[in-house]
Amino acid sequence: MSKIQMKNPIAELDGDEMTRILWKVIKDKLLLPFVDLKTEYFDLGLKERDLTEDAVTYEAAKAIKRLGVGVKCATITSNAARMEEYSLKHLTPSPNGIIRAELDGTVFRKPIIVNNVQATVSCWKSPIILGRHAYGDVYKNCEMTVNGPGKAELVFTQEDGTEIRKTIMEMKGPGILQGIHNTDKSIESFARSCFFYGLSEKVDVWFATKDTISKTYDGRFKEIFQQVFDKEFSEKYQEAGLEYFYTLIDDAVARVMKSEGGFLWACKNYDGDVMSDMIASASGSLAMMTSVLVSPDGVFEYEAAHGTVQRHYYKYLKGEKTSTNPVALIFAWTGALAKRGELDKTPELVDFARKLEKATLSTIESGKMTGDLARISTSSEKTILDSWEFIDVIASQL
Ligand code: NAP
Ligand code: MG
Repeated sequence: MSKIQMKNPIAELDGDEMTRILWKVIKDKLLLPFVDLKTEYFDLGLKERDLTEDAVTYEAAKAIKRLGVGVKCATITSNAARMEEYSLKHLTPSPNGIIRAELDGTVFRKPIIVNNVQATVSCWKSPIILGRHAYGDVYKNCEMTVNGPGKAELVFTQEDGTEIRKTIMEMKGPGILQGIHNTDKSIESFARSCFFYGLSEKVDVWFATKDTISKTYDGRFKEIFQQVFDKEFSEKYQEAGLEYFYTLIDDAVARVMKSEGGFLWACKNYDGDVMSDMIASASGSLAMMTSVLVSPDGVFEYEAAHGTVQRHYYKYLKGEKTSTNPVALIFAWTGALAKRGELDKTPELVDFARKLEKATLSTIESGKMTGDLARISTSSEKTILDSWEFIDVIASQL
């Protein structure tokens, strides 16, 4: 059988622990036998990041930007315990944080749905993709406690020294104060990434804030989203038969719970923090959730939403064959390959990616699955497989 050809490479970012082990198995069994895989490889394993003082992470981010598509394995974010475990020279920042900043991107999480793992919310039939704005608001706040009466003011000193002043509150006694901000530039990037990803996934985009109460702050978010949409996306959405829908955050929450899913929900930073955990846990399992970083100029990096599954890795090191779920890692690869195929106009690559996804889902739906899914699956007949057996079944289906 001749292998499927790729016109252009994708950036491949290898990672740590159990996901690094599975990364290789997935490539060997599910990709290399079928695709003449072209990647630019970067080793983002913790040791290599430490040795290069993160240069490898910055190079990888540059390659993703240049190639337009990347796929990333989960990586350890170092802390004091890891410093000792890996004899690190220094604590390095989170690689995901570095790449997100380099790409000015937004992270979208998307559940992978199978018919024998029921979402807690029974009306959800299609995935709800959640996009969280990852800059500013309460996450970059300035706050204080005041011990007695006084006047709280909001002061903005312009570059020429002039001041704009507003009274927040004449405090009659002790209390608390908080200052938050955001920038037009960051909100615009966020809006653009959301509209790009909505188009890419062929789903409507919902956005919601509390602009009835926060007329200026949240009002600005609403205004910028509408401007970006009207100027850059409305025609493309019309052509694709998609829409952009704005509503109040409480209305959005009520509608989400009664919806069938199948849309992208853009959330402000705090809403996204809270709601992404709700969507993830209500959708089934962390191991069935992909994560995509999308830059405002339409560059895509795919990964699993879970971490390096450290606990399983220590078992693996003791010689045990673990039943770690590789589905989100497989879908990171299929997402990247399908996007590559779409950009390069190589439909056979897109087709391969979709077939691999189908083979993966139908394996689970036939009752063969890893332990985490067996615990929550509604199938009456279940076979629990270790990761290697599970991947072998997918390969034979494929
Ligand atoms: P984790 O790797 O997400 O795993 C937490 C637990 O969730 C596991 O112990 C396991 O539960 C379950 N789980 C997650 N993925 C699974 C899978 N594919 N199959 C089966 N079960 C799965 O989080 P962590 O152990 O707290 O973090 C480990 C490392 O990952 C940390 O060093 C952290 O910095 C890093 N991390 C990286 C990323 C990233 O690169 N995107 C994201 C998050 C965390 P049971 O043990 O009960 O089986
Ligand atoms: Mg959270």
